[in-house]
Amino acid sequence: MRAIVYKGPNEVSVETVADPEIEAATDAIVRITSSGICGSDLHMYEGRTPASGDMRFGHENMGVVEEVGSAVSAIHVGDRVVMPFNIACGTCFNCARGFTNACLVVNPEGVSAGYGYAGMGPFPGGQAERLRVPFADFNCLKLPGKPGDELEDDFLLLSDVFPTGYHGAELAGVGPGDTVAVFGAGPVGLLAAYSSMLRGAAEVYVVDGIAERLAKAEEIGAIAIDYTAGEPCKQIEKLRRANPLVRGGLRPGEEKMAGVMCGIDAVGYQARSVDNPDKENPMQVIDELVHVVNPTGRIGIVGVYFAEDPGGVNGAAKKGQFTLPLGDIFEKGLTIGMGQTPVKKYNAYLRDLIVAGRAKPSFIVSHRLDLDAAPEAYEKFDSRTDGYTKVVLKPEGVAAS
Ligand code: NAD
Ligand code: ZN
Ligand code: ZN
Repeated sequence: MRAIVYKGPNEVSVETVADPEIEAATDAIVRITSSGICGSDLHMYEGRTPASGDMRFGHENMGVVEEVGSAVSAIHVGDRVVMPFNIACGTCFNCARGFTNACLVVNPEGVSAGYGYAGMGPFPGGQAERLRVPFADFNCLKLPGKPGDELEDDFLLLSDVFPTGYHGAELAGVGPGDTVAVFGAGPVGLLAAYSSMLRGAAEVYVVDGIAERLAKAEEIGAIAIDYTAGEPCKQIEKLRRANPLVRGGLRPGEEKMAGVMCGIDAVGYQARSVDNPDKENPMQVIDELVHVVNPTGRIGIVGVYFAEDPGGVNGAAKKGQFTLPLGDIFEKGLTIGMGQTPVKKYNAYLRDLIVAGRAKPSFIVSHRLDLDAAPEAYEKFDSRTDGYTKVVLKPEGVAAS
């Protein structure tokens, strides 16, 4: 079969590799109809997260079950399914409590497993024609409809970025009437803003420096903040102060609450410096969130920070060590949550919102491409140019889908 193979920094190729086979009685083999390229793939693509040569990328996968092991009982040949990027056993201490992002069993190298990801176990990715899915009963989410129908891209986003955006909103405690600042208007940030609205937020600000991504944020009713036009937290506070509807007007003293109640980091360790966007400032977004989130508010961090980053801006950053404004965090009494998304906690509910016509996350998809177009798509998505916001690869061909 054909698969996307990592060759070294900034290089992937389409190669012919052996078809996956059933290795355990709990496995299934899925014929892939759609597989996303993710901002998370770029950490490895750029060589910032060391991946072994010949690693096969692709953790956002959906398709049709082609074969099942003898112990698989809930999933059948012919089922249309989408898989969380986390691979989980379903029965360990963490999985049993819903923390499938920290399965103790599947990854022989550590906690948490995934397809096609450095440090997440020996599981080839699904940017390929076929994928082996371990513990298939637990890891396949059944979908209605037929491959290539009008919900194909919406369902594909259930593998990662829709649940991850939703998880950001959950960690930030977004509820009805809330005010939210989302940093990052990539796929995750846009869907964190969208999820905040699904949860009833009154006002959602989305910060980025890329015009076409900010335009997408505006399309869904968010307020776009361009960080190249000045410090985002100041821009947000200015807009909120100017709004006469803010809690019926601020009384003296209440201007200290002119920020937002919920903040979401959908950028991570490669945050650009607002003073000089050509440079990275890994703490740029965290510093701003601590500033713009009101006392007693909450912050959800789903943008990634790594413990090992050979490309870090200094010695400490290379080890994932950063200086936090802990005094401000304590004084404000902020609550902060972070980490990898337990996709399975949300994917069935979000699927049902899609089926009911109450959510359409595929507004973020900019490109649907054949597998052969992947090398160029990686390059363009990595440079964040030409409108490459979210690429979905179609191993059976775009025409077929
Ligand atoms: P992306 O790289 O396309 O999006 C990041 C966006 O942040 C870009 O649009 C960029 O212009 C913007 N940005 C850079 N500096 C900024 C700044 N100072 N202020 C505001 N915006 C800034 O990637 P994505 O696919 O949207 O992923 C975003 C992050 O989420 C990545 O770190 C990715 O690894 C992570 N992620 C985490 C999980 C999880 O389980 N927690 C899952 C998926 C992705
Ligand atoms: Zn992803
Ligand atoms: Zn487990």
